[in-house]
Amino acid sequence: MSLDHIREAWGACTRCALHESRTHLVFGSGSPTADIVLVGEAPGAREDRLGEPFVGASGKLLDAMLARIGLARSKIYIANVLKCRPPDNRDPRPDEVETCIPVLFEQLDAIQPKVVGTLGNFATRVLLDTKEGITGLRGRVFDVRGYRVVPMYHPAAALHNGSLREEIERDFDRLRGFLQPG
Ligand code: URA
Repeated sequence: MSLDHIREAWGACTRCALHESRTHLVFGSGSPTADIVLVGEAPGAREDRLGEPFVGASGKLLDAMLARIGLARSKIYIANVLKCRPPDNRDPRPDEVETCIPVLFEQLDAIQPKVVGTLGNFATRVLLDTKEGITGLRGRVFDVRGYRVVPMYHPAAALHNGSLREEIERDFDRLRGFLQPG
């Protein structure tokens, strides 16, 4: 199924209560044939308003990281575990994840990326089905449903802790490495 078909099939989703408070369902954006898919947690306030992932403060950091490794947003694909914003930026609930995660798996199956970067604790724990924290998982490669999954710090971590910036840069350098032939 193509990304357009998936978007159409889920339509104006009302499968969980988040549809009541959302402005936009934030499906994802980028290339339908991307080698890299990045997965975040859920839309924030600005993403909800604009209908695009990572267009707020963490989006700016993400753009800076992508620019550093010479990758345009249009060449990769960016999505979140949840497609609708949890009110007041609360953590997504397990039932919301369970309802929404099939969309992400359908997106991956449509795109067939070479590597999936999970941004931060939340997306990493959901995709790897673990309670382990990002700090112990980053730098390793995992197989999830046949996809190569690489846990990475969330770019927003640099907003809270400037000293993580170099570590985040290292994660993105590593991600870039998956695109090299051989
Ligand atoms: N943080 C996320 O995890 N996803 C977004 O889309 C924006 C901020």
